[in-house]
Amino acid sequence: MPKVPLPDMLADAEKSGYAIGYFEAWDLYSLEAVVSAAEAENSPVIIGIGGLSANHEWLTSAGIDIYGSVCSLLAQRSRVPTALLFNEAEDFTEASRGLGAGFNAVMMHTQGWGWNRLIADTCLLVEAAHKQEIAVEGEVGALAEMSIDGEIDTTIGAMTEVAQAVQFVDETKVDCLAIAVGNVHFVTSDYVPTIDVRRIEEIRDAVEVPLVLHGGSGTPADQMRSAIGAGISKVNVGTRLKHAFGQGLRDGLNSGQDPNLLFGSRLPDDVNSRAAAELNKEVRRLMRVFGSEGRA
Ligand SMILES: [Zn+2]
Repeated sequence: MPKVPLPDMLADAEKSGYAIGYFEAWDLYSLEAVVSAAEAENSPVIIGIGGLSANHEWLTSAGIDIYGSVCSLLAQRSRVPTALLFNEAEDFTEASRGLGAGFNAVMMHTQGWGWNRLIADTCLLVEAAHKQEIAVEGEVGALAEMSIDGEIDTTIGAMTEVAQAVQFVDETKVDCLAIAVGNVHFVTSDYVPTIDVRRIEEIRDAVEVPLVLHGGSGTPADQMRSAIGAGISKVNVGTRLKHAFGQGLRDGLNSGQDPNLLFGSRLPDDVNSRAAAELNKEVRRLMRVFGSEGRA
């Protein structure tokens, strides 16, 4: 079916009290696995790629266009409502490349920017994007991050203030708003963040656009359900999916088969297909946590 506008998708989620996952992918196998999980769960879905841990030279030279085209084709063939997000672009210039590439939603990684730049560059992106009926996700506040050795860097984190959220949405006209409410990026260990559910409710009552929770990998199911009940309509997940994919790859490589079967065969021994099957399982599980199954 044709790609579905992100605001339409999130409006339904907000009205009905569930959340839609943005499941970050990085290649053809992972993108296909997310779409097939959504079809199996009969769930709306947001597919795409992100800039947060990517090579920006590669992204801007070809990556954004290649994956924009692939995502568009997959959305057309998808049997469930599908939106296409270029997530966490490095800056306005990189995000702008997503506008002509086939994505129907873009977001910049603005954490750490000063307020004036945040407002000015978001306004520029919204103006350019809305002319092409492309949605913009904005962000106020900053998430703490987990480093590769499992340490949490809280010094970069800043909770979203209600008044700032209101002013930001008012001035920029973004279509949805990512907030920092105790959620943490890149969690791979048993670390359990504490989500400030009350703060989500306060922000939801004060702003008119759907709210987004990044750091979906580390937020356990019970806290996730509370966050969605309090007003989260979109959840971003990346790290956890890469973890599942990596496990499938390792299992596949250890099986020691003929390389012609291991790579590119699309048969059960194909290591990427095996990894994609693990990713697919994890996405389906998360869709049931978000309550988006059966909502397509
Ligand atoms: Zn994120």
